[in-house]
Amino acid sequence: MTAAGDTIVALATPRGQSALAVVRVSGPDAIAVVDGVFSGASLADASSHSAHVGSIRMPNKDVLDQVIVTLFRNPRSATGEDVVEVSCHGGDVASALVVDCLVGCGARPASPGEFTQRAFLNGKVDLAQAEAIGDLIHARAVRAHRVSVAHLYGRYSELIDAFRNELLDLVAFLELELDFSEEDVEFADRERLQRAFREGEALLDDLLASYRYGRTLSDGIRVAIAGRPNAGKSTLLNAVLGSDRAIVSEVAGTTRDSIEAESSYDGHRLIWVDTAGLRGTSDSIEAEGVERAKRIAAEADVVVYVVDARDGLQAEEIAFVGSLESLPVIILHNKMDLVKTSPVFSEGHLPFSALDARLARRPPDMLLEAVIEAAIGSGAASDEHRTVTSARHVAHLGTARTALERAAAAFRTGASGDMLVSDLKEAMDHLGMITGAMTNEDVLDRIFSRFCIGK
Ligand code: GDP
Repeated sequence: MTAAGDTIVALATPRGQSALAVVRVSGPDAIAVVDGVFSGASLADASSHSAHVGSIRMPNKDVLDQVIVTLFRNPRSATGEDVVEVSCHGGDVASALVVDCLVGCGARPASPGEFTQRAFLNGKVDLAQAEAIGDLIHARAVRAHRVSVAHLYGRYSELIDAFRNELLDLVAFLELELDFSEEDVEFADRERLQRAFREGEALLDDLLASYRYGRTLSDGIRVAIAGRPNAGKSTLLNAVLGSDRAIVSEVAGTTRDSIEAESSYDGHRLIWVDTAGLRGTSDSIEAEGVERAKRIAAEADVVVYVVDARDGLQAEEIAFVGSLESLPVIILHNKMDLVKTSPVFSEGHLPFSALDARLARRPPDMLLEAVIEAAIGSGAASDEHRTVTSARHVAHLGTARTALERAAAAFRTGASGDMLVSDLKEAMDHLGMITGAMTNEDVLDRIFSRFCIGK
């Protein structure tokens, strides 16, 4: 990725028809570049945070569009550089012509994520906050959005930084002790050190545990629907989606291809995978059970196993469900509307009628709540600042946790101060990699290239 320094331009809003589109320019020449083609005011003299109506004219004086230009002088801008936002008319042509015109005047088309990268490099946001901006843009359900906003406001970073700073202090004292090792003095308060181990381990455990929930915010909850042909899988899927997405038929094995569709419930994103594998031929469950179970387990967080309540679970189905191993399974006793008795169901078994749910035209709350609980447990973090949604963060938190544990053991056994310091530094470095206090170009390139152009 190109280093900051030149002036970049990109469309900040999506392509396609819209009332407005925003073209953003950032860099030392941002004001001069736009000033050269803007007729409304002299931007060179304009104050920061001011808006101006006018037109953008090509060098040959042809008018491209009527626009509003908003100016932000460094460092009081999103990137920390001079920034000019040009609000032009939407649609692909106007905004593309404005971008081309500004490129013709000396701005360079921005790379993906380059605006946010500049914001990071200029200290406007830390790395976790920059990633939260990316997550916010990609959020597909309300809970994911809520957590990214919380992270954007920085309290997640503060939590990590506060602990890292405490380690930094302690390491400084321990290093001083090493310098004065001949004199056998203690600069680092032992009680404070022990408290840091205790509280640090608790914090990291908490954050690591939150990933069970946090991962579903970035990836969604994948729910596999399995069961014998005709059990009612397609009807269930349609009831859940509120549309006729899957084909329902009275002929067993109608739906041959696997179907994937999304819905949302209580702010969660649910991805339903209708497993074609289990609906091939009626006797194939036993023959291919293990193979299929593995496939499902690899791609789902929860399995809803649909059984015709009139038949109940057959022996080979019990074996199949058993082979799903640690994957949470909800056994859905479907077609309860056809059952006259009221059997008692044990935990993990739910009475249901996909037909009734479809006819009622409302989401089957009881089932959806059971699915979410099975996927994330009842402990969905209530504190959004303490919810980790990124695999990158989990890797660093995990390494920091292990290093901290080693340091605590070294401290307890009275091992050399060198070892203690080196373990604490490792923990510190990995925490720093989350917020960007420690980083390198490769990591930054990988993170920011994930963003879209204009961000
Ligand atoms: P699949 O092969 O498992 O996908 O099963 P389908 O969803 O295609 O359903 C097979 C048949 O069972 C269809 O005729 C559905 O209308 C019917 N069916 C599905 N769920 C229910 C239910 O809850 N009650 C009743 N009475 N019929 C149902």
